[in-house]
Amino acid sequence: MVDHPPPDPGVPHLVVRGLRKTYGAPPVRALRGADLTVRAGEFVALMGPSGSGKSTLLHLVAGLDRADEGTVALAGVRTEELNSTKLARLRRRHVGLVFQFFHLIEHLSALENVALAALIAGCRPAEATARARDLLDTLGLLDRAAERPGALSGGQRQRVAIARALANQPTLLLADEPTGALDSAGAAEVLDLFRRLHAAGQTILMVTHNREVAAGAERVVRMRDGCVVDSGEDSGVDGESDDAGEPVDPLVAPSGPLWVDALTGRRTRLRHRTDAGDADPGGAERYVGSGP
Ligand code: ADP
Ligand code: MG
Repeated sequence: MVDHPPPDPGVPHLVVRGLRKTYGAPPVRALRGADLTVRAGEFVALMGPSGSGKSTLLHLVAGLDRADEGTVALAGVRTEELNSTKLARLRRRHVGLVFQFFHLIEHLSALENVALAALIAGCRPAEATARARDLLDTLGLLDRAAERPGALSGGQRQRVAIARALANQPTLLLADEPTGALDSAGAAEVLDLFRRLHAAGQTILMVTHNREVAAGAERVVRMRDGCVVDSGEDSGVDGESDDAGEPVDPLVAPSGPLWVDALTGRRTRLRHRTDAGDADPGGAERYVGSGP
């Protein structure tokens, strides 16, 4: 599913520092110094109240817009130092984007929607079609390949949109409320797909309002008023300090659950280690390592 070699697990793949963004007049301070680190192979959920800056952060990470201050390093490249051509190239190389409302082209089939993205990513036409078929097959949608989006369920549409986002074999999959327009069955379908992609090595940063969806991620980061107020490094999904009972630290266990990718048969076990290079040297980090 991830054709290019997955990035080295545990290595920071995305590093955001002191990001600030103010829109318009009167000024709206959408980001007020946001910090975020996503390691290669992580599946991170980003939560926070409406207006807290989640979409803005995702857009800046995707290189769709520029910050006023602060830094975004993607795959070790500082984006603020790039001109717009190089930024677009970095985005094409590294970023896949999934939106709440799918944004599929209605008069193209599922296959054509995905193949178009592969063409834009630089594939030749035959290769683009082959890649699109592969992706739809992998995502369990090959039998719907000829259908237009209007004939698909919401969950299927979002899966096509995810296939499209994967057409350039991105090292970072960004999703902004990908289940926000879906019923619970569609949301479960999309979350299951993200988990399988994650198990296959895909790095994912997903904005969601939905606690249940967030709980499907490996780590939950929380934003408020334009800042990241909880990196989720120490607490896990439900580890807020006001939670009742003994905090369960998933990092203490010698090894995490074994996930068998239903698509590839590849076994992936969550492991744990301390990242001595992190700004918080006391914090243990989780990373995904492959089983035999
Ligand atoms: P979230 O995704 O967490 O709901 P956003 O990042 O969309 O938050 O928005 C953060 C703040 O910035 C909000 O107050 C929003 O109204 C404002 N904002 C976002 N985009 C724009 C824009 N293009 N122009 C003006 N204000 C914006
Ligand atoms: Mg938003």
